[in-house]
Amino acid sequence: MIGTMGREDVLRWLRETDPANLNDLWQTADEVRRANVGDEVHLRGLIEASNYCVRRCGYCGIRLENRAIDRYRMTESDVMNCASLAVTLGYGTVVIQAGEDYGLTRDGIATMVRRIKAETPLAVTLSLGERPDDDLVEWRAAGADRYLLRFETSDSELYDRIHPPRAGQQGDRFDILRRLLELGYEVGSGIMVGIPGQTWSTLANDLMMFREFDLDMIGIGPFIPHPQTPLGSTPEVAPVDAQVPADEETVLRCIALTRILCPEANIPSTTALATINRTSGREHGLQRGANIVMPNLTPPRYRVKYEIYPAKACIEETAEQCAMCLAGRIRAIGRTIGTGQGARHRRVHR
Ligand code: SAH
Repeated sequence: MIGTMGREDVLRWLRETDPANLNDLWQTADEVRRANVGDEVHLRGLIEASNYCVRRCGYCGIRLENRAIDRYRMTESDVMNCASLAVTLGYGTVVIQAGEDYGLTRDGIATMVRRIKAETPLAVTLSLGERPDDDLVEWRAAGADRYLLRFETSDSELYDRIHPPRAGQQGDRFDILRRLLELGYEVGSGIMVGIPGQTWSTLANDLMMFREFDLDMIGIGPFIPHPQTPLGSTPEVAPVDAQVPADEETVLRCIALTRILCPEANIPSTTALATINRTSGREHGLQRGANIVMPNLTPPRYRVKYEIYPAKACIEETAEQCAMCLAGRIRAIGRTIGTGQGARHRRVHR
């Protein structure tokens, strides 16, 4: 199965339903995971720094036009408190994520990154949307290690429909991803599975794109409709045979195939996956190719407002509760908690 997998094989495996064949897929993905990134599960503490956003993404609950939510923006000291908590809880990385919020200024973020790098041993990942090149350059110079920007779907027509460009600007996330690689960031991207209008054929292209870009991190989660968004009600879907469902097994097939295609990548078992199967979604992801989890560090008073999709798992927990719960789940499936920053394993350097 491994090494020989081309687009047509990926397409066939994406639609596989035979339980015995799927068992082979799960087993292969798990073996490839163990051989390439080992049994350690790395923890990346998520800091949801702001829910302000200038974009109008059709899928996302914190989009500009959602007037029904209370907006918040963390201060530098809020973020630093989350970073110290990450150290206390034994995490190796913090991920500062937000809407595309220019209230989080270039200098403001650069100062936070410099302080975290100077005062803690943490790796710093940023996930702040499609920021101008000068911002990305400055943050890298300040010491940011990684950047996450999902391309969401490789179907450009579908992408434009669900992610309208800002007035007068032509956004291409692939251009930004190339630029991030050039700047020396470790680069993460990813997709949502089951976007209305997403077909099996584009999903196969998405997975092939992960390999082409040689991504360091690949996040895959189900699309979850948010009622206060355009895609939350009666969206246009592809014909029955072509439309990808946003169900757990389809997400797991994507994760497993991605592990086989990109053996050394860091692949999270996402909160969105844990949201559609609260009892064991997280574990299933880890047992079918994933090696990362992203426990939430955001203080509960802000966390409830970062509602990119509804009924998000873990939304009312504190950071400490999140840490305990995830550690328990990791140990229960015979895995260990990673130490250090958990940078991407690379056999061959770029
Ligand atoms: N503003 C940043 C961070 C966005 S949130 C950015 O745009 O990159 C991170 C990810 O959450 C998004 O990239 C998207 O893939 C996912 N997401 C947003 N809304 C979602 C929804 N309704 N269902 C599932 N995933 C969603």
